[in-house]
Amino acid sequence: MEKKSLDWANLDFSYRKTDKSYVSNYINGAWDGGQLTSDSTVSINECAGVFQYSQSCFEGLKAYTTEDGRIVAFRPDMNAARMENGAKRLEMPVFPKERFVDAVMKTVKANAAYVPPYGYGATLYIRPFMFGSSPVIGVAPAKDYQFRILTTPVGPYFKGGVRSLTLCVSDFDRAAPNGTGNIKAGLNYAMSIHAIVTAHKNGFDENMFLDAATHTKVEETGGANFIFVTKDNKVVTPKSDSILPSITRISLLHIAKEYLNLEVEEREIPLTEVKDFVECGLCGTAAVISPVGKIVDHGNEIVMANSAQGMGPVTKRLYDTLTGIQIGRIEAPKGWIQVVE
Ligand SMILES: *Cc1c(COP(=O)(O)O)cnc(C)c1O
Repeated sequence: MEKKSLDWANLDFSYRKTDKSYVSNYINGAWDGGQLTSDSTVSINECAGVFQYSQSCFEGLKAYTTEDGRIVAFRPDMNAARMENGAKRLEMPVFPKERFVDAVMKTVKANAAYVPPYGYGATLYIRPFMFGSSPVIGVAPAKDYQFRILTTPVGPYFKGGVRSLTLCVSDFDRAAPNGTGNIKAGLNYAMSIHAIVTAHKNGFDENMFLDAATHTKVEETGGANFIFVTKDNKVVTPKSDSILPSITRISLLHIAKEYLNLEVEEREIPLTEVKDFVECGLCGTAAVISPVGKIVDHGNEIVMANSAQGMGPVTKRLYDTLTGIQIGRIEAPKGWIQVVE
């Protein structure tokens, strides 16, 4: 397979059409067999459920080249399971988990020429998504759905080196109790765009959202979960039903316990406790971990002593171990690395 002649070292995080996408339609109560297509345009009725009532959910994961030249995907079964939860919550049909993983593998294989070679820190970003495709005008689930997977090559999240982020405690809420914060639905993002644009205007990199009911507990940012580290090297992460369960965070907690022998706590975190932590990081597929240097709560600056200038020592060990597992330098727990045949 000959690679495309892309400028691998200078890819940014933007959409670039690749050769093939995967598409399967749910019609008359059943998923069809699915196929690869080179058509990146979707043609559906103007009254489709996705347009009128935002009936859609998505996933995000990466394929990349390991040190020994294999193309692999990281824990696609976890994305399949998470999308199943999202589909159920939005009254959409479930795309079967085995088929999801198989479709991811097929799509990556068909776009192997776009998977960045080892060494650039670049990856093939995989975006599975599903939406109501048939017309609805009274509020109800659509009858028909489309499941698609698109891929796009992307560069490393931090170009020119990791930089510590400055966050602000947002006055907006991300997710309500018993709402949809724990599923990867487009609607959670639609209403977070104003919050992030506002944060950027005010000079901040990201928002820290608090729990909507009491505004006293740390939840997450618009697109990444928090991990904190205490003075005595305990890894602490917020527990809440309105946080999106990040696969990166779940993997990092496993690594903290099983690889690094660190104590791990998943529990409620009052905003008032944040000043006691020494490291903070944001975790998600895109960057794995982005260090947080400062959190500003309405003029009150909370500095993360050990992650003010780049990743703190504990965060760095977590990062190095997870990325080491991903590129095949460190032995992976069973099932974490799926080789694209
Ligand atoms: C996708 C997402 C994350 C990160 O999840 P990963 O599985 O680690 O990529 C965190 N928070 C929100 C709101 C998300 O949508």
